[in-house]
Amino acid sequence: MMIDRNDLERLKRLLAPGGQRIAVVAHTNPDGDAIGSALAWRRLLAGMGHEVCCAVPNRYPAFLGWMTDIGHLRIFREDTDGEVARFIAEADLIFCLDFNQIERLEGMSAAIAANTRARRVLIDHHLNPPAIYDLQFSVPAASSTSFLVYGLIVALAGEKAVDYATAESLYVGMMTDTGNFSFSNLTPELYRAVAVLAERGIDIPAIHNNVYNSFSEGRIRLLGYALNRKMEIMHPYGAAYISLTERDLRRFRFQIGDSEGFVNFPLAIREVSMSAMFLETKNFIRVSLRSRGDVDVNVFARRYFDGGGHRNAAGGKSFLPMPETVERFRAAVEEFFGERSGAE
Ligand code: 5GP
Ligand code: MN
Repeated sequence: MMIDRNDLERLKRLLAPGGQRIAVVAHTNPDGDAIGSALAWRRLLAGMGHEVCCAVPNRYPAFLGWMTDIGHLRIFREDTDGEVARFIAEADLIFCLDFNQIERLEGMSAAIAANTRARRVLIDHHLNPPAIYDLQFSVPAASSTSFLVYGLIVALAGEKAVDYATAESLYVGMMTDTGNFSFSNLTPELYRAVAVLAERGIDIPAIHNNVYNSFSEGRIRLLGYALNRKMEIMHPYGAAYISLTERDLRRFRFQIGDSEGFVNFPLAIREVSMSAMFLETKNFIRVSLRSRGDVDVNVFARRYFDGGGHRNAAGGKSFLPMPETVERFRAAVEEFFGERSGAE
C-alpha cells in the first residue's frame, strides 16, 4: 500500500492530542465505499477517544441499512436542528473520504468551507485532488477508499484495531467498489486484507446477499424497462447509454439508489466498451459513465459533463433537458472516439 511514511507521521501528530472534535465526511449519494470507509474511520477515531461526527450530505441506499455501524452515520439534509452543521463549524479536524472536490458534498460544501480553522485531511482514491488539504492520502491505484482506510488503520493501530464492525464496513467498501472483486487493481495485498477481515468472522455470503440481492420489485422492473426500452447502442463506437426521465422513475415508484449499478449492464455486451446513464432529477441530469480497458471516462466526464472520477468509472452533470443531453452525449462520443482513432 502506497502510504507515505512522512504523511503517516504527520497524521499521528494530528491525532495525538486527545478528545478532539473530528468530522468524517463522505460524498453525496454515498455508495458502499463512501459509507464503509467513513464508518470504519469513525470507529477507529472514536476508539481513540475523540468526539467524532460521521456525516454524508444525503441518504444512503436502503441496501446498506443493515450495517452494524449505520446508526453512527448522520445525514446532513435530514438534520433539521442543525446539529451536524454546528459540529462541523466547531471541528478541529475534518477528514474527507472517497471524494476530493468539496463541491461533491453539494448542500454540505458550505458548512465545510466555512470552518477555516480546522485542519483538513483527504483519504481518497480519485484522480487529481485539488491542493486544499493540510494532509492528503490520495492513492488512485487503491481499488477502494476502504482498502486505503484498512492500510491506515493497520499502520496506525495494528491489525488488532480491526474489529468485527470495522471488518464489515471495510468489506462492504472493498466489495462494492471492485464490482465484487472483478475490476482493476485487484492486488495480492487486497486479498491479504480481505483475509484479515474474514478472520473477524464477517459473514461474506450474507453481506453479498444484503447488498446485491435486495432489489425491490420496482427496482428490478425498472432495470428490465431500462435495458429493454431505454438503452441505445452507438454501434460504430461501442458506446451504449440509458436515459431515465422523472416520468420513467415515477412509473416504477423510484427510491434513491434504485438505479445504482444499472450503468454497468450494457458493458456486459461483447462489443460495448463505454456505457452511460442519464438520470433525471429535479434540478439536473446526473450522468454516470463506465468503461472497459483503456477507454478513459474520467477524461470524457471532465471534458463534456463537468465531472470526473476514475478511468473506468466517472460521472458528471447536465443542466440541459434530456433530449439535448442525449444529443450532446452522442456528439461527444463521435468527437472523443474520432480523436482516438485519429491518434492511432
Ligand atoms: P457514479 O456513476 O457511481 O455516480 O459515480 C462513479 C464515479 O464517478 C464516482 O466514484 C466518482 O468518482 C465519479 N463522479 C460521479 N459524479 C461526479 C461528479 O459530479 N463530479 C466528479 N468530479 N466526479 C464524479
Ligand atoms: Mn470509492
